[in-house]
Amino acid sequence: MSRPMLLRGGRVVDPSQGLDGPADVLIEEEVIAAVGPALQGPDGAEIVDVSGLVLSPGLIDLHVHLREPGGEHKETIATGAAAAAAGGFTAVCAMPNTTPVNDTRAITEMMLARAREAGGPRLHPIAAATRGSKGEQLTEMAELREAGAIGISDDGRCVMNAAVMRRALEYARTFDLLFSQHCEDHHMTKDAQMHEGEIATQLGLTGWPREAEDIIVARDLILAETTGARYHVAHMSSFGAVRLIREAKSRGLRVSAEVTPHHLLFTDEALLGYDTYCKVNPPLREIEDRESLREALADGTIDCIATDHAPHTDLEKDCEFEAASVGINGLESAIGSMFQLVRDGVLKPLRFVEVLSTAPARLIPDFEGGSLREGRAADITLLDPETRWILDKEALRSKSHNTPMLDRELTGRPVMTIVAGKVVHEL
Ligand SMILES: [Zn+2]
Repeated sequence: MSRPMLLRGGRVVDPSQGLDGPADVLIEEEVIAAVGPALQGPDGAEIVDVSGLVLSPGLIDLHVHLREPGGEHKETIATGAAAAAAGGFTAVCAMPNTTPVNDTRAITEMMLARAREAGGPRLHPIAAATRGSKGEQLTEMAELREAGAIGISDDGRCVMNAAVMRRALEYARTFDLLFSQHCEDHHMTKDAQMHEGEIATQLGLTGWPREAEDIIVARDLILAETTGARYHVAHMSSFGAVRLIREAKSRGLRVSAEVTPHHLLFTDEALLGYDTYCKVNPPLREIEDRESLREALADGTIDCIATDHAPHTDLEKDCEFEAASVGINGLESAIGSMFQLVRDGVLKPLRFVEVLSTAPARLIPDFEGGSLREGRAADITLLDPETRWILDKEALRSKSHNTPMLDRELTGRPVMTIVAGKVVHEL
């Protein structure tokens, strides 16, 4: 039996109950035993003073790359889990573009076993939609689901063949799996290095036009409607895609979308110095895209923030722009950078917690977390919204540190991460 813990004097922000105010939280036997004012813990309870801190349901990241198996020089499930815990996340969903691709029960089970050994945040694999993510033959989705996969995706690749995509959505619907699409018409983005626009012309780099994203979203919405599948747009980056999802939601389609911190913060101007740390797929776009993404996140068109945590080594980033790998290491800077949206008035505190916890939890059936209701698993993140800190390379838990947020001053930080009543990270 673990010792009960009483978190006393904090501000509880829980969108699942519309709560934002002072309250104590009592944890007993891995679950939330009580939430309310002036709670008295049972005899022997550990009392933790959390005054000045925000207590939220544990943060959930629907989109991370943990690189194991096959890319352990960039990240392992253990280092990725430590980075997630330090970033305030109590659950992360791992994309299948490992080596080999997670397209079998054996790999899904291996990933889950590694996460259990690591003992940190919960890991939920998203398995491949097609074998080897080659876009041709469907995977055994029933088996993958049974093994523990909570969704399917060929992330990194888009399912280009519409006939295959339609069948994939039919199967996804049958097994009630979320289909997360990497929306990119690969014919339109051949050799692309960054967003197609004035900056790309100025830098002499091949561009990745918005239409390559919009065309796939438009096609997929037609297929999502006819199949009734739960369709999710991964790392949305263009204002056209926002418009399409907004229209689909207004007609009641079961569709959802996520956006990354970097697409909410930066534009293609960040690439002016050929900064390889800002090289990412889909690329950083223009101010009208960024503003549209922010507005869509605030009004519910976009459901949640996901980091698309994509660790790469120095060797893969400290090189010529055209040779550099794509991706940004996101787990440990997400909260410190995203609090900016609250300070700027883009997101209210309740919506901030919703897009990082309650909303992603809603997208996955039977998902633990996303709520501090009594009886739910004690997955809790404690945040200090005021503290200023520098994202220091040496302090990162991730094995890699490819992020443009390095050495920047951030305001707001996770200070404690609790999974099933157990503290997995504490500053
Ligand atoms: Zn992707």
